[in-house]
Amino acid sequence: MEPIDQIAGAGELQRLLERSERAHTDGGAADGRDQAELALALARRHGERGAEARALLLKGQHEFRLGHGEGALRSLTRAAELFLELGDDRGRSEALARTVLALHSLGQSQQALEVSELAVQCARRCGDRAALALAYASAGTAHDAVGDHAAALAATDLACDLAHESGDQSAIFSALNNRVVDLLGLAAAAQQGDGGERRRSVERAIEAGERALAVAQQLGAYQQVLALVNLGEALRVAGRLEEAHRMCSAAATRAKVNGFRSLFFSARETCARVAQSDARLVEAATMFERLLFDATQAGEVQVQLQTLRSLSEVHRDSGDHRLALAYLEQFCELEQRRRSTLAETRARMLSDRIELERLQRATELATRDAEAERARARDLEQQKRALQQRTEELLRRADQDSLTGLWNRGYAERVLPQLLRAAREHAAPVSVLMVDADHFKAVNDGYGHNAGDEVLRRIAGLMSAQLRPVDTVARYGGEEFIVVLPGASAQDAGALAERLCAAVGDAAWDVVVAGGTPTISVGVASAWPDEMVTLGAEELALRLVARADAALYQAKRAGRNRVVATGA
Ligand code: GH3
Ligand code: MG
Ligand code: MG
Repeated sequence: MEPIDQIAGAGELQRLLERSERAHTDGGAADGRDQAELALALARRHGERGAEARALLLKGQHEFRLGHGEGALRSLTRAAELFLELGDDRGRSEALARTVLALHSLGQSQQALEVSELAVQCARRCGDRAALALAYASAGTAHDAVGDHAAALAATDLACDLAHESGDQSAIFSALNNRVVDLLGLAAAAQQGDGGERRRSVERAIEAGERALAVAQQLGAYQQVLALVNLGEALRVAGRLEEAHRMCSAAATRAKVNGFRSLFFSARETCARVAQSDARLVEAATMFERLLFDATQAGEVQVQLQTLRSLSEVHRDSGDHRLALAYLEQFCELEQRRRSTLAETRARMLSDRIELERLQRATELATRDAEAERARARDLEQQKRALQQRTEELLRRADQDSLTGLWNRGYAERVLPQLLRAAREHAAPVSVLMVDADHFKAVNDGYGHNAGDEVLRRIAGLMSAQLRPVDTVARYGGEEFIVVLPGASAQDAGALAERLCAAVGDAAWDVVVAGGTPTISVGVASAWPDEMVTLGAEELALRLVARADAALYQAKRAGRNRVVATGA
């Protein structure tokens, strides 16, 4: 995932979201949706989940305005889920409130009611008045859709108060606008009963509609068209047909220009109803016919249903009962089909959800597997390192003398030919010292085996201290040592051997062997391997050791605590 901290990416994402938001009030719903989709892709690429949720919310709102109810529902549902995951109650309540409208447009009234309750809870939790106003406004719409106009009005009134307190113009508009719808619903319900109550409801609806239109002027084209449609309908119900006609004609024109598909249908429907109320029945019938045709083409089932019912009424009023019955039958058929489609839509959305959950789960499992795999790899790497260390340790130990910590004879015999080969290549000399502790048996006998061991360790330490890193000193066996000196001539080696003898002879031995003075004898042998071309390195090594050993023997014979060098 690419981090968003590249200024360009972050700036572009913000710009797209702002433009999409602005399109919301400017009325460019199609552009707004496109920008929201681009922002969505960008937010997902950068793993910006907050921006992703906002983009989904905007996309859903634009889709809703373009009349794509199902798409809107999907975007808004996903937005609400994301806000929930992000713990953003304000965002979630707005997404839920918009979801209510989408569900309402799809005729899923019962679900709309349930979601609106969630929206209210959510808005209450975040304590934002504008959010709460929007949530109550959505609750009003939902109650209205199930025919509970009184509950709808109560919710809407609450929304109005909260919106005014918040000062949020968009919330004020939504609340006022819903008020018009609720009051008209109330008026229609009172049709058979109290004429006075009906009249009062209609008057209040007109008043709310006028206020909504005034607020809409500060908001945008969509809100203005919506306000015109609702006010037109209120005026029609009040019998102010000329004004109603003006309002909804203007609304229809502007809805068409701006591509507000569902508002365009609503405006035309109201226009036709105005003609019907005005007893221009033939004209009304023609308008409804055209509307029915366009709505059928566009698959706008809600509009078709409403129009079929209106057509049935118009023909009944004009005395054509046969045609009235035919439209009523069509209405019933379509309503039945709608109900089964509704069930299908629910099933489809459910299977979308299942698919989404399946994918999320698969991703989670894959992530977990990858992590386990990485942990296993880390574990194996650690085991490998430990094994390597252990192997090196064991190899070193195999070449080491346990008493003195020096190399052992096997190692010395292995490296000597290698050093001779290297010396031959570089035309350098190599010297070998054979070192033996003098009268060591007497040390053991006089001071004990442990003291003897300590003397051997000390001799090893004293010798090592005199050597260069390239030199090799090994315990050759018992109280005998071998020293290999690459690059050392006979002279260098003799001088070093003298230093070794002196170092051992001059050491403070009292703490180990009180009164004792351990000494060593050294035999020196040197060679220039490049001059001995007829010999192999192994053979040369044997000879050098043998010569050093012979020199050592001479040193012993000559009285010990001394150095004897052999010639080549
Ligand atoms: P020389 O001067 O002729 O070398 O006399 P020496 O007594 O040193 O030689 P000899 O070969 O007679 O005796 C070597 C002794 O070293 C015999 C043995 O017990 C002792 N020795 C060999 N290895 C060890 C060891 O690891 N620890 C101890 N304490 N003694 C050892
Ligand atoms: Mg000895
Ligand atoms: Mg010996």
